[in-house]
Parts: sequence; structure tokens; C-alpha cells
Amino acid sequence: MITILGGGVAGLTTATELARRGHLLQVVDPAGAPGPHGCSWWAGGMLAPFCEGETAAPEIIRQGQRAADWWQAAGATVHRMGTLVVALTRDRTELDRFARRTRGHVTLEGDGLALEPLLAERFERALFFAEEAHVTPRAALAVLRAGLEARGVAFHRAATPEGPVIDCRGLAARDLLPDLRGVRGEMVVLRAPDIVLHRPVRLLHPRFPLYIVPRGDGVFMLGATQLEAGGRGPVRLRSVVELLNAAYALHPAFAEAEVLEFGADARPAFADNIPRAFRQEGRIHVNGLFRHGFLMSPALAVAAADLIEEQA
Ligand SMILES: Cc1cc2nc3c(=O)[nH]c(=O)nc-3n(C[C@H](O)[C@H](O)[C@H](O)COP(=O)(O)OP(=O)(O)OC[C@H]3O[C@@H](n4cnc5c(N)ncnc54)[C@H](O)[C@@H]3O)c2cc1C
Repeated sequence: MITILGGGVAGLTTATELARRGHLLQVVDPAGAPGPHGCSWWAGGMLAPFCEGETAAPEIIRQGQRAADWWQAAGATVHRMGTLVVALTRDRTELDRFARRTRGHVTLEGDGLALEPLLAERFERALFFAEEAHVTPRAALAVLRAGLEARGVAFHRAATPEGPVIDCRGLAARDLLPDLRGVRGEMVVLRAPDIVLHRPVRLLHPRFPLYIVPRGDGVFMLGATQLEAGGRGPVRLRSVVELLNAAYALHPAFAEAEVLEFGADARPAFADNIPRAFRQEGRIHVNGLFRHGFLMSPALAVAAADLIEEQA
């Protein structure tokens, strides 16, 4: 028996990888099923290794490229529509800078922009990252949990750990990992039935990387701030204003959108912002997923399962 502590994206991907390899396991999470208590609930679900490569380490670009296939094999719906990156006229040099710092893109101009007709009216140029994908986090987590239940994995709110322990408690693991910090992220969910976008769109912004992820049925997730201070707790007015202004700047039709939800959480991160799976003092930790929970948890799940099998 293997015990996994934590049923967020780190815990459920690790459990799925181990269950697939035939291990017997239990998942313990005092909060029960994924919900607003966990950071994973608030994610955009972008599997965007090349865009993230603007600031992320090379191993994130490399390992993140396997995420879309892993999620698909696990039964999640993976939208392989790529990512479009645009900049307002005043920030046009940002697009050149972004293009220089990333790979895996082509520049679209004129008719090329017809793949997102709504934006073709407003932007002259965009970068298109065709190989990128996205999932809907809440649906993807539910698929993993249902898959695990179907394989007979037990979920407990409290249980005595049995066998090797894999600690996937996110920020709660700060009791054992004092170098873990929380990087606050805030998001908004909008409904704008008249707006059609087929893929995540990033609007380059001098203060934070803003993106809009289509969820279908006219629903869009808009994220995300990235603040070192502030911890968890309710969304701040300034962030809401900036996020909503950016949506409006992307297309004025967002002015008529219904605001469905605000959310915030603190992303668990190590000092170098690189996620890892490692053994420490008798348990395996999977943590530090930072901005890359859905992108990097498949690679960490494989690494954690390998560590368990080395031990056996
Ligand atoms: C606004 C926002 C947007 C984001 N967008 C993206 C994105 O587009 N793409 C991407 O890849 N990532 C994104 N992220 C990052 C991603 O959400 C995080 O990296 C990820 O959710 C961290 O997952 P986790 O499983 O480590 O933590 P969590 O999801 O917080 O899960 C930890 C779990 O541990 C449980 N727990 C706590 N204490 C205990 C205990 N004592 N015993 C057992 N269990 C316990 C908790 O109840 C919780 O369920 C985003 C984050 C935010 C905030």
C-alpha cells in the first residue's frame, strides 16, 4: 500500500500514474474532493510549455511538452488548439521581445489572423504556438478522481498512513519544506455568449502575463496575477480592475460579459520556481508546482512513481 497525502493536481496525477502501474494506494485529503480549498481549483489549465519558456527554466519547456499526451491518456479532454499571443499597439515591442525569448511559434499577420476572426479585427500581428494545448482543470481533476475510484483506490479524509508516503499537500507541506513559498494568483470567470475564441489568448502586459482561456458555452477564465505578497484570501480590487480592463482591451465586447466568479490562491513554489519530486526524511515530496501545476504534474508523477519503484 502507498499513501498519497493531498488530492490536488499533484496528488491525483501521482495516484493515477501509480495506479496505472498496478500499485495499491490510498489518497488522504481532509478537504475531500477537489474544490475551492485547493490551488488546483483556480488554475487556467494551460499546457503551454513554449509560452511559459519566456520566463521558465528549460526543463519545464522540455518536460511540459509531454503533458498534453499524459492528460489525454488519463481520459481528460485535451484541447489542442494552440495559443495566440497578442499585444496592444502601445505594447507592440513586447511582442518582439516575447518572440525572441520563446520558440515553437510562427508570426501571423493579415489573413493569417483569420483563425481567430474576433481578434483579426483588432490586432495586426500575433504569435501562434500551434503545439500548445489546454484542459479545463475542474473537469480534468474529476476525470482523474473517477478513474482512480474505478480502479478501487480509496479516498479518505483521515487515515493512518500505510506504506511509503508521497506528500502532495501543496502549500500545507511548508511544515516540512520551509523553503516553500506561496505566490498569489487571482482569476475571474466571465460569461460572454457573443464572444467566440477557439484557443487561449495571451495579451502581453507590462505587469503580469494575462490570458483568457475559453471554457466553452461562452464561458472564459481570465487570469492571472502573480504576486509575491498577499498569500491566499479574497481577490483584491486592483487585481479585478486590471484583469477586467485587460479583457476589455482585448475586445470591447467583453464589456457586456457577466462576471460569474472571482478566485484567488497561493501557488506553492520553491525559490527557483522549479517543481520537483524528491525523497526527504522518509517520504517522497511532489511540490513547488508554481504556475505549472497542470503542465508539470504529469512529469513529476512519473518521477515520483519511479522513486517508489527504485525503493521497492
Ligand atoms: C489563478 C491561477 C492560475 C493558474 N493557472 C495555471 C495554468 O494555466 N496551468 C498550470 O499548469 N498551472 C496553473 N496554476 C498553478 C496550479 O494551480 C498549481 O501549481 C497547482 O494547483 C498546485 O497543485 P498542488 O496539488 O500542489 O496543490 P493544491 O491544489 O493546493 O492541493 C493540495 C491538497 O493538499 C490537501 N491537504 C492540505 N493539508 C493536508 C494534509 N495534512 N493531509 C492531506 N492533504 C492535505 C489540500 O486539501 C489540497 O487538496 C495556476 C494557479 C493559480 C492560482
